[in-house]
Amino acid sequence: MNKLPQLFVNNRRWAATTEQRHPGFFGELSSQQSPRYLWIGCSDSRVPANEIVGLAPGELFVHRNVANLVFHNDFSCLSVLQYAIDVLGIEHVIVCGHYGCGGVIASYEQRPLGLVDNWLLPIRDIARMYAPQLAELPTDLERADRLCELNVLFQARRVCRTTIVQQAWEKGRSLTVHAWVYRLNDGLLRDLGFCANDLATADADFERTAGAGTIGR
Ligand code: ZN
Repeated sequence: MNKLPQLFVNNRRWAATTEQRHPGFFGELSSQQSPRYLWIGCSDSRVPANEIVGLAPGELFVHRNVANLVFHNDFSCLSVLQYAIDVLGIEHVIVCGHYGCGGVIASYEQRPLGLVDNWLLPIRDIARMYAPQLAELPTDLERADRLCELNVLFQARRVCRTTIVQQAWEKGRSLTVHAWVYRLNDGLLRDLGFCANDLATADADFERTAGAGTIGR
């Protein structure tokens, strides 16, 4: 039976190197975590959340799924959000998508992938809502890129509309929701200009950055 020995070799090497560089690292890490940020990102293997922002284990709380979607009935995502805010005391939630996202492109092209098509339906809806604006862009690549950005903006606003974030704001908690996008071919993050610390700012930032679709939102 193949037990993936190479990954265990890699793991031992990584643990030894990390402990060598930072003596006591694992001892400290096992006793507590105090991340300051929650990252909601895509499962894509090319987008390693910690590494992109130069943070070590223990510094970034992470939730990832296909195409970085936030559903108000997804208890996995909502539990991560609630735990991050209420228990860990996180003050920044970063929703980060990426250009070239397979889930977004398949939705744009209406290319069937299987069960996951159901998960990705909201992106097809966004593409329909913004069809006229997307059609104005000159190339398929630019249209897909813009759809990646719109998807992140929709998800960031959804984070703001959860009861968890609403209640944190009502209590006067300092909590900011950000919308970023990452480009695979240069490794750089881009801030989409959505930076909300209350619902009014969330709506205003959304209007400014996503504009209005043609069908109701
Ligand atoms: Zn992706």
